[in-house]
Amino acid sequence: MIEELFPDLYRVEVPLPRSPLKALNSYIVKGKGRFLIIDTGMNREECLIPLQAALKKLNVDLDKTDFFITHLHADHSGLVGVLSTDSSKVYFNKTEASFVNFQPNEDYWKKHFVFYAANGFPEDEMMSVWQGHPGYRYSSRRKITFTVMEEGNEIEIGNYLFRCVETPGHSPGHMCLYEADKKVLICGDHILFDITPNITHWEQLDNSLGHYLSNLEKVYALDVSLILPGHRIIWTDHRKRIRELQEHHRNRLAEALSAVAEGGKTAWEVAPYVTWDIDCNSWAEFPSVQKFFAVGETIAHLDYLVSDGKAKKEMINHQVLYSLA
Ligand SMILES: [Zn+2]
Repeated sequence: MIEELFPDLYRVEVPLPRSPLKALNSYIVKGKGRFLIIDTGMNREECLIPLQAALKKLNVDLDKTDFFITHLHADHSGLVGVLSTDSSKVYFNKTEASFVNFQPNEDYWKKHFVFYAANGFPEDEMMSVWQGHPGYRYSSRRKITFTVMEEGNEIEIGNYLFRCVETPGHSPGHMCLYEADKKVLICGDHILFDITPNITHWEQLDNSLGHYLSNLEKVYALDVSLILPGHRIIWTDHRKRIRELQEHHRNRLAEALSAVAEGGKTAWEVAPYVTWDIDCNSWAEFPSVQKFFAVGETIAHLDYLVSDGKAKKEMINHQVLYSLA
């Protein structure tokens, strides 16, 4: 589906098969002899073919196209290695550019899984997570030379002047684009409307939930009349949604705190105490990959409680245990 939102600014829905996210919103801006694609879809044919068809309909010439990637997740960055050409600039935030180049990195994943095992994730379930993890399966496979962007840097294309707004939380260097004149915010996965962005643990970001909540306030202050997220519906009232997202995390923090109040627990043991928005009757029914995402999100909440002085974290017998402070 192609939708013209403003003159020369389009949304293309790129399908994400078997993902609860359903589709990625790719935004395409036409300038004077140059194009900009904001986020791309996963590196798989089910994304590539519909996106290529949309680009053809919009007469986008990839030899004259630059890319802006809001964050490292494969559903946003996966196709940039396939679509970018020697003449493309690929704009990417400084934090993630320092440790991601969109080439396969087995060591990164191994380290990731050792960390989850220490947080109680059963090692026998880990292998199916590895094979099913979208980040592992559908990442870009070509080394990219990035044009590194920081807070306040600008991208001018046609009638649009986008300003970079750093919003770490959902990912370590997540970045939005703000068009002040048109009051438009392209917000990646910082704010979603009919689903809630996953906030997980990141090695590169101490207390990711703390960063996320303060960067919701940062965006709350912006004058926005249309917000263009990375998935699902686009909407007008970002401030109401920000208050709902803050409330959502406060509720989960309370659930995690009541779990550790019963005694020391790993994140794996705390996760079933938390309310998850998934179509399963019990924790045991969750697919392994969804358990993996849920445990990551639980760690982010527990680490927030630690930084808030409400919980403490200790390593006991190679397991990370959280308990009341
Ligand atoms: Zn994401």
